[in-house]
Amino acid sequence: MLWELYQQTQIAGAKASADVAAEQSRGVKTEIHQIKRRADRQALTTMAIWALLSEKLGVTEADLEAKIREIDLSDGKLDGQVRVETNTCGQCNRKLSKRHTKCMYCGAEAGRTLDHL
Ligand SMILES: [Zn+2]
Repeated sequence: MLWELYQQTQIAGAKASADVAAEQSRGVKTEIHQIKRRADRQALTTMAIWALLSEKLGVTEADLEAKIREIDLSDGKLDGQVRVETNTCGQCNRKLSKRHTKCMYCGAEAGRTLDHL
């Protein structure tokens, strides 16, 4: 009798865990679908921009390749990726590009904290 009760509790616990996992899986699938849609939209936009640049301004594939290489190397590594280094605003805690001397959200000087104001 006690063993049966224990088993029923274990089964209920396992079912609850499976339900949670299934729900998480649905959430991940939805997120992947949204990311794929955004990537597709970005690819479409990039193709449209490229078509306009080449048709209207005569920009060549070589120009594009050179600019891709230049931007890729801007973080010091030719690795097909762009990494943007960030600072954290000492006043509002938002992420900032290292290029900015002032926080674009609150206007604080980049690198300064409230302690220094
Ligand atoms: Zn700020």
